[in-house]
Amino acid sequence: MLEPEPSLLERPLGDLRGVGKERQEQLSRLKLLTIGDLLLNRPRRYEDRRRYQSISSLVKGEFAAAHGTIVAQGVNRFHRSRKSVFEFILDDGSSRLHCRWWNLPYLEKYFKIGDEVCVYGKVSSNRPRTIDHPETEIVEEDEQTTHMNRIVPVYRLTEGMPQRWLRSLVSRVLRMAEGAIEDPHPSIVSGEMPDRANAVHMMHFPEDMGDAELSRRRLALDELIDLQISFRKRRVKMLDNAEGQVCKGDDSLMKPFIDELGFQLTESQTDVLKEIRADMETGVPMRRLLQGDVGAGKTVVAASAVLMAIESGKNALIMAPTEILATQHYENFRNWFGALGIPVHLQTGARKLQDEAGLWSPQQKTSGSLTVGTHALFQGKFSVDNLGLVVIDEQHKFGVAQREALVRKGNYPHLLVMTATPIPRTLGLTLYGDLDVSTIAKPPAGRGRVRTFVRETDKLTKVWQFIRDQIKEGRQAYVVYPRLEDSDLKKGLKAVVDEHERLKRDHSELSFGLLHGRMSADEKNLAMRNFSSGNIQVLVATSVIEVGVDVANATVMLIENAEQFGLAQLHQLRGRIGRGAHDSYCILIANNKDQAVWERLNVMTETHDGFRIAEEDLRLRGPGDMLGQDQSGQLRFKFADLVNDLRLVEQARDIAVSLV
Ligand code: ADP
Ligand code: MG
Repeated sequence: MLEPEPSLLERPLGDLRGVGKERQEQLSRLKLLTIGDLLLNRPRRYEDRRRYQSISSLVKGEFAAAHGTIVAQGVNRFHRSRKSVFEFILDDGSSRLHCRWWNLPYLEKYFKIGDEVCVYGKVSSNRPRTIDHPETEIVEEDEQTTHMNRIVPVYRLTEGMPQRWLRSLVSRVLRMAEGAIEDPHPSIVSGEMPDRANAVHMMHFPEDMGDAELSRRRLALDELIDLQISFRKRRVKMLDNAEGQVCKGDDSLMKPFIDELGFQLTESQTDVLKEIRADMETGVPMRRLLQGDVGAGKTVVAASAVLMAIESGKNALIMAPTEILATQHYENFRNWFGALGIPVHLQTGARKLQDEAGLWSPQQKTSGSLTVGTHALFQGKFSVDNLGLVVIDEQHKFGVAQREALVRKGNYPHLLVMTATPIPRTLGLTLYGDLDVSTIAKPPAGRGRVRTFVRETDKLTKVWQFIRDQIKEGRQAYVVYPRLEDSDLKKGLKAVVDEHERLKRDHSELSFGLLHGRMSADEKNLAMRNFSSGNIQVLVATSVIEVGVDVANATVMLIENAEQFGLAQLHQLRGRIGRGAHDSYCILIANNKDQAVWERLNVMTETHDGFRIAEEDLRLRGPGDMLGQDQSGQLRFKFADLVNDLRLVEQARDIAVSLV
């Protein structure tokens, strides 16, 4: 049988005239294999060659593109140091520009007097005007139309490949492929939005910089629509396959639980519970994200959802990202559920599920029980019969794959994922596009105020005086350091182990505890228990306490080397205080007088709004840095920019909904 002819866009670049083995190999190093890859290869930047800056106007410290003729060139060797510098001097009629390269003497071969050259780089000196190690391009006369007098694309290169060669290839392929680029979504083409073929063309050779941005937006939209369609498809497939677990509940457990809580659910909490009940009582598997800022009271909501499942004779799982948090939930739920006669189990790496005889049992066979655990829940043999509900706490610490692995322990159980990292809406739609979203907008009333201060290191003595006063009044404090071991005092970076020792010496009247990720599970639990019971007054910790830890009597959060943390992370840490009726204090110690650092940290004093903080963090640090490794992988886009493309993300979502 004949293989079907591959479409033009799928053809390997090696098929093109002028692309031999060596060039093909170089292109593949840039991940450019097919004609389609080449067409979607986004320029790294553009250079406006319609009008060059005159050399006489170049300013030290700024990036500049210039164009002129080489009037002198040569290599200077320094025999003592065995160093060399190759230099040419460019003249554009207005002035002269020195271009220098250190220790690359062979460059001499490539440039000769009389060559017309474009250069781009940072001006390193005004007298004489100099650019060190600029990007260069020799312009030959027969190619002027592609490379001169227009805005030209500048691509990422690999060794041995000239910019000019790649640009010519793109230009040629664009002409060839004109008719082959189809528009997958013709309905979105409008006065402003170009069709796909045009967008591809404009991306490489825009008429003005506005065109470049417009084409990026169009290609980003296609990319985002694809992602949203995959979310929709996944959901449709799930609905087709699911048999459904009807968890109607009869309030027989819920009612006494709520009566015994000791507080009333807030309106936000009740609203969210209604949404959850509406999902769970149908046979359609719930896929819901519950977001609520730190301290908003998500755990009680999760507990109520668990009760709905248990009332219906099913089992439930709660997964938490750390051993500390899993244990805290375990103890909490045992308190709540013990009185109701509901068995609660713990399954972590350190502590495995036991059966009645005290033996490890990989299978949970009872019904109407809750198992709380860590990653250990979805790893290995552990399984649960009759699984009605899976809750994942602090979902942002897990990846989608882990979420799926856990759900697969049952037969399409309901899923509730909770997060206190308020994610900006763009990220939310992109990361959690397959989930419905509920929000607890307001925390419970009756909490003390939380005030935040940014201070320099030299104020520490005063700060500790203040902490001692708080402790005298019966309160407790957290002190957080960025490092585990090996303080680097030259850089002013403090480590938790060293500081714990020092604090114990300097403040012998206070009782200190230590908590970090390298301690064994038992040690961690002991430290946590001693802190919640008040045996320990000051808990010295790394950011392991960032998620979930709940001790209402703690009113001070001192964070040293605060500049080392992201804003979202600082917000999480600050969420450990302000949980009781007393006023609380978050003190950020900045070791760095850098103005940008102070501005960033000052955002924390200005707002408690987790969403604003997250947006700010996203803007300053980008999505990869803001989220964990696992999640940022999902966010690798060629064209879409999650910081600025909210409108596009929303549009993509609507289009996908209408298509699937
Ligand atoms: P998070 O949303 O950060 O997980 P938690 O569920 O840990 O917050 O709740 C924070 C604290 O608020 C807990 O001590 C919890 O018992 C308490 N809490 C929750 N809901 C209410 C409420 N409606 N009224 C008073 N306190 C509440
Ligand atoms: Mg929580």
